[in-house]
Amino acid sequence: MDPENPRPNELEAPAILDRSGHRISRRDIDPDALKVLYRLSSHGFTAYLVGGAVRDMLLGRKPVDFDIGTNAHPNQIKKLFRNAFLIGRRFRLAHVKFQGGKTIEVSTFRRKPDEEELAAEREEQEAKRTREAERAEETGENSSAAPLDDQSAPIEAEGRAEPVEPEGEQTSAPSAESALGPGIVISAAETAGAAVEASAQGPAAEPTPLRHARPPLKPIAYGTPREDSFRRDLTINALFYDIATYSVIDYVGGLEDLEAGRVRIIGDPDTSYTEDPVRIWRVLRHASRLGFAIEEKTADAISRHRDKLAVCAGSRLFEELNKDMKSGNSRPFFQSARIHGVLPKILGAVGELYEASDDRFDKLTLLLGALDASINSGGSPPSEVMYGLLLWPWAEPLLADIHGDKPIVLYNAFRTSGSAALIPKTLLLETVNTLVIADHMVQALVDGKMRWALKERPRYPEASRITSLLVEGSFGNCEDPFAMIYQRRFGARPRAHPRRRKRRPQKAGPPSTPLATAA
Ligand code: ATP
Ligand code: MG
Repeated sequence: MDPENPRPNELEAPAILDRSGHRISRRDIDPDALKVLYRLSSHGFTAYLVGGAVRDMLLGRKPVDFDIGTNAHPNQIKKLFRNAFLIGRRFRLAHVKFQGGKTIEVSTFRRKPDEEELAAEREEQEAKRTREAERAEETGENSSAAPLDDQSAPIEAEGRAEPVEPEGEQTSAPSAESALGPGIVISAAETAGAAVEASAQGPAAEPTPLRHARPPLKPIAYGTPREDSFRRDLTINALFYDIATYSVIDYVGGLEDLEAGRVRIIGDPDTSYTEDPVRIWRVLRHASRLGFAIEEKTADAISRHRDKLAVCAGSRLFEELNKDMKSGNSRPFFQSARIHGVLPKILGAVGELYEASDDRFDKLTLLLGALDASINSGGSPPSEVMYGLLLWPWAEPLLADIHGDKPIVLYNAFRTSGSAALIPKTLLLETVNTLVIADHMVQALVDGKMRWALKERPRYPEASRITSLLVEGSFGNCEDPFAMIYQRRFGARPRAHPRRRKRRPQKAGPPSTPLATAA
């Protein structure tokens, strides 16, 4: 080891903890993941449990998901499992499906992307962001209404589709070396590229036969287990559990960091954050979730690179945001994001407000604390409630000043706030509608003037729960906690079936505004 830099370098032998040296038990591994591991192994492939599952089991925590790394080629994985589906274009991953919708992700070991691949990836991310912005401009949306599983992550991330290469590059079997052990798989793409080159140099040298040829493709960036661990984000996320020996393999010093309660980027943080700024988010997530410290260089580099978050694809940032909102750990995550100056980078003006105002941020942490408590005790609050809580401390003063079409004004205020995380249009609309009803309810609990017709609105139940949290500090444990509070304060029982007004003919126009006249 280099005394100047005590981290393992890319040539050193890994640290290996054998079965008696760690606490991972096969009983804690998902049985379907175990089946996949054993099947790969019994067919002569290396099969490791990788990523967060190893980290969490070493810490005695329940893993969120079980991902598998192997030297088997995607097509070999597909052949071994009838229930496997290949996803992604460049780095194909296998999703092995089990009953109940469970998916075990199996990916072939990869190496770090080279400069050219990184540049292509950055270009793709920028192009995606531009497309999102153009679409938003055209449709007046906050976002592309991207589904939650939008797959636009850069080439480093596990389980993400790759946007670069066309289909068909992985039809060849891996080289003998790669099937037996470490080594880069040489793909059909290379052969295809070579064929294109050869025919271009042939005696006829006619341009016409090449008319439909695609440009030569780079070899697929598969790699060895060692290379695979060095291309990951954090040392604690790069540990492998080998099903053949039941040992834990550590190429990057993750065991030591796990022991010390420390989150550390693998390699140079400046390089790593430049390659993929979302790793800043991941550092904050894992440190806050585990209660770990952030290693000094890993933390220092955040301020130099956090601006880059704003150029990541907005749908990918939303996906990250959504993970934290649903994690039961949103409050510590937002606290950590504030300390590291990241909130304005991901949430634009909303984040700026939360960074600048202690009062607004304190309110946010109270609400997120309640959200976390609900999730951690088995609840699954609807998205409109989660995002309603996230936006309430920002929306509250705005709503007091809006006298016209509250949902639309609030919707547009968020849309123009410069948020890098793109909340899908439908969710944002539902969220602002929920907030406008909640705002009316809060006021009604002061002056007693409730428009009970709102009970017929689709977002009434969500608004009722948010209002209960805002005024009583809990979501309440009945169907309509707002009505209960109202009844307690004013004694008037709301009518179950309020009189319906005659519908006015609907105007054509931008997004529906159910509360335009009601609030
Ligand atoms: P969780 O418990 O939330 O699932 P995780 O660490 O398993 O945490 P995943 O998003 O499931 O996170 O990713 C699986 C693994 O893929 C990570 O542990 C890490 O090794 C690798 N990974 C994910 N995202 C990145 C990234 N942006 N850069 C490098 N490696 C990544
Ligand atoms: Mg995971």
